[in-house]
Amino acid sequence: MRAEVFRHGTVTCYRKGCRCDSCKAIHLGEQRAIRQRRRAERVEVDGALVHPSAKHGTASGYGYFACRCPACTRNNREGVASRKASGVPGR
Ligand SMILES: [Zn+2]
Ligand SMILES: [Zn+2]
Repeated sequence: MRAEVFRHGTVTCYRKGCRCDSCKAIHLGEQRAIRQRRRAERVEVDGALVHPSAKHGTASGYGYFACRCPACTRNNREGVASRKASGVPGR
């Protein structure tokens, strides 16, 4: 049986579970590109950058989509505040 050979520094190789330096670098670059694309999709509404596909008022809206509409911003602020107030140590 012939061992499958993956080219390192490719997304395919990373997806196969490889975590060598060049594959990790490619993966990080891809994540950054996705994030930049998502940020570029935001539109300005009343001076706030709002992502049209975000679920507003959720942590993912604020974090994943980088939405800064009033609902997402408030959710983020309250989430941080309640986590601090509850005194539960972070996992
Ligand atoms: Zn690799
Ligand atoms: Zn939002």
